[in-house]
Amino acid sequence: MDKKHVLLNRFARKCAGAAELAAGLLYPPRCMFCGELLEPEERERMICAKCAPKLPLVGKEFCLCCGKALGLPEEELCGDCRRRREEGRGHIFDSGRSLLVYTEEVSELMARYKFLNRRDLAPRLAEMTARELRIEIRAMEARALVPVPLHPKKLAERGFDQAKLLAEELAKALNREEMRRSSAYPAGETRNDGAYTVYEMLARTRPTKPMKELDGEERTRNLAAALALAPGTVRVPGRAILEADTYTTGSTLDACAGVLKRAGVRKVFFVTAATGKD
Ligand SMILES: [Zn+2]
Ligand SMILES: [Zn+2]
Repeated sequence: MDKKHVLLNRFARKCAGAAELAAGLLYPPRCMFCGELLEPEERERMICAKCAPKLPLVGKEFCLCCGKALGLPEEELCGDCRRRREEGRGHIFDSGRSLLVYTEEVSELMARYKFLNRRDLAPRLAEMTARELRIEIRAMEARALVPVPLHPKKLAERGFDQAKLLAEELAKALNREEMRRSSAYPAGETRNDGAYTVYEMLARTRPTKPMKELDGEERTRNLAAALALAPGTVRVPGRAILEADTYTTGSTLDACAGVLKRAGVRKVFFVTAATGKD
């Protein structure tokens, strides 16, 4: 790297640091869960030390297919994905990653987000996802973020589309994170793979039937019948990342992946804020 670049990079980092400091004075960072003011060392995670164990990250031991936190770290797949593969009914999506393990507190956090209209949680969850999962998301080699669609009736009840908002915030956060990192690349090595963009490629055509009495595959079929390619979709990316708030059985994500694959998307991944533990 030449001297001019070194100075420019140093200057850019200083400016970013000053901006962060100013923002910190105006809006002192608070814990995403309990709202307490954060100590400087807690700011990276956005959760205070008291709440952190209740909102655990999935971390490095995860199912290579569905991204669920693994009970036994030596396994490659969780029990569910192993069974599915043995029975020849593997997931339709290729793989995915999630940020937090679904604990009682994470469930409460997600409920506040979705049902108490806490839209402010979306940029925080997205920021955290971009920091924690940036490398794995980059490895998906997809720049299209496709929100799992919400039925218009639910949208009217809730007032906002939680998956779409998360996808928009995640695209922004990932682009910011890539920019921040690119100033650290040596000159001439700056990666330019294009920006993460939200593609609203999926639409709900009708409300789904009650799912309680259906098994996994019936659920996927039930959901698939209620999903379609959004009208007006002209450009189909080769690879896409589905965005949803929570991974439960994977049925919804499989149904969405099926529609995308039939439309010509070759690889479908997903990112969610929360997931179960094996
Ligand atoms: Zn807290
Ligand atoms: Zn799995």
